[in-house]
Amino acid sequence: MTTLPATTDRKLGLVIDLDTCVGCHACVIACKGWNTQNYGAPLADADAYGAEPVGAFLNRVHSFEVQPGDGPAQIVHFPKSCLHCDDAPCVTVCPTGASYKRAEDGIVLVNEDDCIGCGLCAWACPYGAREQDPVEKVMKKCTLCVDRIYNDTLPPEDREPACVRTCPTGARHFGDLADPESAVSRLVAERGGFDLMPEQGTAPVNKYLPPRDRDTLDVLAPLLPPVDEGPKGFLGWLDRTLERI
Ligand code: SF4
Ligand code: SF4
Ligand code: SF4
Repeated sequence: MTTLPATTDRKLGLVIDLDTCVGCHACVIACKGWNTQNYGAPLADADAYGAEPVGAFLNRVHSFEVQPGDGPAQIVHFPKSCLHCDDAPCVTVCPTGASYKRAEDGIVLVNEDDCIGCGLCAWACPYGAREQDPVEKVMKKCTLCVDRIYNDTLPPEDREPACVRTCPTGARHFGDLADPESAVSRLVAERGGFDLMPEQGTAPVNKYLPPRDRDTLDVLAPLLPPVDEGPKGFLGWLDRTLERI
């Protein structure tokens, strides 16, 4: 079994805003493209155009309809990837030392050369964040794009995870959550960022920001003037067109 570092100098991770994520999957495609683009990217790894495509996607987005007790139903888009847990059971369960957590920045990685594909780490992860590559037969997971964030050959603006660089709504944030003054830590403090499934005791580094309450027309409608009381549809169009003649 593999040991975890007692502490890490930094805690690099993601802060994901469930309020502004629109479920576009751009982060899924960017992740796939950057991390496994040697074959099939950003499509599935095998049978991409067939009846049963399969592939390891290190970042996935799930969408749920949530029904609050006192408001209209709303859709919540929920991106999910490895949360780089401080107390990562995927590391301690690994029989070969292939899974490890870095003491310098807290990133949890897999050394694919030492992975025997036993699948124990995927079983141990309570978030379903690990996927076995169906072609290479080794375990894969989010690396926080460790080959981008320290890469001096990239322009400075590209030295962040591909998903963060790509997100069109700015819902994904990357930084050091061990530094209380970092932008991500301040965001978590201001918006009530939370751990995913804290009862699992994994101490995830990544944080989620909750969706804000939606405005309801029931509240605002009495305060607003009527928008349009004229005829609608084809008759409305005809009415407006004739008015302009
Ligand atoms: S999210 Fe899962 S794979 Fe990632 S560090 Fe935590 S337990 Fe391991
Ligand atoms: S699948 Fe690989 S990384 Fe996961 S526990 Fe087995 S040897 Fe370790
Ligand atoms: S790219 Fe951004 S908005 Fe689109 S699914 Fe991913 S996190 Fe959500």
